[in-house]
Amino acid sequence: MEKILNYINGEWLAPVQGQYLPNKNPSTGETYSLVPDSDAEDAERAITAAYGAFKSWSQTTVRQRSDLLRKLAELIKENATKLAHDESMDNGKPLRLASEVDIPRSELNFRFFADMAISLHGEAYRSDPNTVSYTEYAPLGPVVCISPWNLPLYLLTWKIAPALAAGCTVVAKPSEITPMTAYRLSQLVAQAGFPKGVINFLHGRGASLGEKLATDARVKAISFTGSTQTGRIISGMASPHFKKLALEMGGKNPVLIFQDAEYEKTLNTVVRSSFSNQGQICLCGSRIFIQRPLYDQFKNDFVERVARLKVGDPGDEASDLGAVVSEDHQKKILSYIQKAKDEGGVILTGGEKLSLGSGYYVAPTVIENLRWDSCVNQDEIFGPVVTLTPFESEEHVVSMANSTRYGLAASVWTTNIQCAQRMVRGLDVGIVWVNTWMNRDLRTPFGGVKESGYGREGGLEALKFFSEVKTICVETS
Ligand code: NAD
Repeated sequence: MEKILNYINGEWLAPVQGQYLPNKNPSTGETYSLVPDSDAEDAERAITAAYGAFKSWSQTTVRQRSDLLRKLAELIKENATKLAHDESMDNGKPLRLASEVDIPRSELNFRFFADMAISLHGEAYRSDPNTVSYTEYAPLGPVVCISPWNLPLYLLTWKIAPALAAGCTVVAKPSEITPMTAYRLSQLVAQAGFPKGVINFLHGRGASLGEKLATDARVKAISFTGSTQTGRIISGMASPHFKKLALEMGGKNPVLIFQDAEYEKTLNTVVRSSFSNQGQICLCGSRIFIQRPLYDQFKNDFVERVARLKVGDPGDEASDLGAVVSEDHQKKILSYIQKAKDEGGVILTGGEKLSLGSGYYVAPTVIENLRWDSCVNQDEIFGPVVTLTPFESEEHVVSMANSTRYGLAASVWTTNIQCAQRMVRGLDVGIVWVNTWMNRDLRTPFGGVKESGYGREGGLEALKFFSEVKTICVETS
C-alpha cells in the first residue's frame, strides 16, 4: 500500500512519530494508501525549512520565480492523466470532472500567477516639487496554506501559486481526507527544481497541526479554505499573534430565477450548479428560489432532468455524479434529508443513499415545501441536496436569499437588466453571477462576506495578501 510522505526541505520524510491515517477511496470504501498523521514536531520542521529558505527566495527576481512556476505548470500538464485519475480515486469525483476541471485549473493557477506576478506595482505621488512618495511591495515571509477536500489540487495550488509568485515560502497543509494529489505535486515540485525549503508539504489532521501553524512567530500569514467552524478556530488562534488571515469558508448560495429568464439555459445551468462534484463545491447553489408564475413548470422540468442524472463509478464516462467524499459526510447529508422530512419537506426526487458496492453514494435530491428559515435552508449541507422555494416579489426573494449567516455567492437568472442590477445591489454576497455560473476571470477578487469569508483571493488581491507594502518618502532638495 502506498505511503504518502511529508516533503520538507527538499526531502520526503515519514512523520516523526511514525503514525499514519488510512486514506480511503470513497467509491469503494477501501483504504488504498496511508497518510502521515503528523504532529507539532513535523510542523516545526516544515516551518523551520520555509523560514530558512525565505531570505534567498525572496531575493529572486520576478522573472526567476515566474519561470519556475511555468515549469511546474508544464509538469502538471505532462502528468495530467495520472493526476486526474488520482484526484478521482481520492475524492470520489467523476474522472471526467477531474480531467476537465480540477487538473487543468491547477495547471492554470501556476501559469496565471507566473504572468500576474509582473503586474504587482506600487504607486508614486509627487507631493511637492521637492518630495516624492512611493510604495513598494515586498514578500511577506513564510506562509501557511490550508486547503479542503472538495477541490483538492485546484484549491491548494490557488494559494501556493500567488504565495510563491509574491516571493513567500510555503508550508502547504492539504486535507488529510484527500492528500494524494498534493503528494504528487510535491514530486513535481522537486522535478521542477524549486530550491529546497521553498515549498513544504505537511500532511495530517488539522486539529493536530493547527495550533503550531497558527501561532508560530515565523509564520506571517495563513491562507485558509474550509468550513466556517475551522476558520473561526484558526482566526481565534492566529489573531492574537497579528498574522495576516485570508479565510474562505462555508456557503449556502441562493439561485434566483425570474419568470423572464432564458428558460433552457437556466434549466441546464441550474442542474449543473446544483450537482457538480456531488454538490460539493462551495459555489454550488443549494437554495433555488423561483418566481411564483414559473414555479410549477420549472419544478417539473428540473426534477425530470435531475432524476435522469446518472450516479455511479467515478471512472465511468457516463457517470454524472460519483461518490461523496467519506462515510461521515454521507451520514451528515442523509441526516439533513431526514431533518427536511421532519420539517415537513417533500422529497421530489432522490432522498436516499445508493447501494453501489460499499462506496458512499447519495442520490441527487430535490426538496420543496420547506420554510426559508428551516435548518435545511439555513445550514450548509455541502452535498447533492437542493431546495425549491417560490417567491412573489423582488423584496421577498432578496430577504429570503440574505437570511443565512453565509454570503459567498449568488446567481440571478433574468433578462431584465434593471431587475438584475437591483438584485446585484441587494444581495449580501461576495460574488454574483447574472445568467451564468462558475464563470471566473482569475484577475477578479474572490471571496465571501458575513461568515463565508474574510479577505479576498484572486488576481492582484492574492499577490498583495502575500506582500507587505512599504511607503517611502524622498525629499530631493
Ligand atoms: P474543514 O474546515 O474541515 O478542513 C479544511 C482544512 O482545514 C483541512 O486541511 C483540515 O485538515 C484543516 N483543519 C481542520 N481543523 C483545523 C485546525 N484546528 N487548525 C488548522 N487547520 C485545520 O473543511 P472541509 O470539510 O475540508 O471542506 C469543506 C468546507 O470547505 C465547506 O464548508 C465548504 O464550503 C468550504 N469551502 C469553501 C470554499 C471557499 O472558497 N469559500 C471553497 C471550498 C470549500
